[in-house]
Amino acid sequence: MTMSEPALEPRPARGLTRGWCPGVLDPMETGDGWLLRIRVPGGLVTSSALASVAALAGEFGSGIVDITSRANLQIRGVAAHRLDLATAAAVEAGLAGADPGREAFRAVVANPLTGHDQAAACDSRPVVAALVARLVDGIAGNAPSKFGIVVDDCGSWPLDGLDADVALRATRDGSWQICVRGTRAPIGSTDDPVGSAVAATQWCVDEQIRMDQLVTITGIATVAARLAASTAHVTRAATPPLVAGRILGMVPHAHAQRVNVVAAPFLGRVTHQVLIALAGLAATHAADLRLTPDHSFAFCGLPSSAAQQLMTELGDLGLVVDRDDPKAAISACVGSAGCWWAHADTGIAAAELVATDSTPGGVHLSACAKQCGAPSGVRQLVADESGTFR
Ligand code: SF4
Repeated sequence: MTMSEPALEPRPARGLTRGWCPGVLDPMETGDGWLLRIRVPGGLVTSSALASVAALAGEFGSGIVDITSRANLQIRGVAAHRLDLATAAAVEAGLAGADPGREAFRAVVANPLTGHDQAAACDSRPVVAALVARLVDGIAGNAPSKFGIVVDDCGSWPLDGLDADVALRATRDGSWQICVRGTRAPIGSTDDPVGSAVAATQWCVDEQIRMDQLVTITGIATVAARLAASTAHVTRAATPPLVAGRILGMVPHAHAQRVNVVAAPFLGRVTHQVLIALAGLAATHAADLRLTPDHSFAFCGLPSSAAQQLMTELGDLGLVVDRDDPKAAISACVGSAGCWWAHADTGIAAAELVATDSTPGGVHLSACAKQCGAPSGVRQLVADESGTFR
């Protein structure tokens, strides 16, 4: 397909069910048009890729881009008659593969500071890269809906709360603990985290069920055995520090002369113009750019001397860099700006909360009882049918 081909017929709506994750080639129709989710394994995004996403959002979508709770990007508001052009452009830009069945295997989340985190047990980037390559090229069959893997270097970014079929946790001795969905304790340890995760994935793919269902059906001992985990050599994983509240602003780097800076757009949503500016800042400051599962951007490894300037520039773009900023305490679903089922405009409600600075401890706004993606550990306000948050 070329970019100048005529519009194709709109695709059938697919967004009315739970348990299905959209992608680039498997988009979802929402209240503000079609949504393309661009998977970014490990949140490891380059400034040029971010600029490409911004360009696509400006050309084909409403210009609004979300950062998701799994550190992916969502282009919103694509018109039905431009959907095929948008997906083709995303593939051409290298933002997605051409096979939607393979794309689902890129659902890997990692510490966004990895490689720059003084608290981490390792740099998990090689594991993420090798794992995604093996999953995309080596798995026979398609992933069960919502299947996902976490690669945790046990650094300063808490990943325990993420939904993962398989979670790999780095230890200080160089091995990795294996945790599976539906169990609390690690089921074993491995020196081959990629091989173990691939084996677990293939098993779920073969059965077309998620890992917790496998545990229920076969028992945890069978799961451990089939993963070839060496339970005789279980080692204690590095213990991530307890983090109260959001990680924002300057975060210590593994090297004393460098620093990481984390900034969050209000409600995890940015315009394509801001996205382009962020890509430019990352390039200007020679920072490694990351997406975080906390709906924020991490600029990693910049010289300490440049951090304050970057913080000011990010603040000028409207991003939150201070965890005490009232905007940092609020999250929300898209609400009536982008969802058919919404009973209220969460953007307006959130702005009102900021104005009154009445969100001690954090609050999440849901515009209907479905409460999509509502985080735990914060006060929940849910809109009733009259549009009142309670
Ligand atoms: S919680 Fe929000 S995004 Fe989810 S269905 Fe309700 S209104 Fe839509």
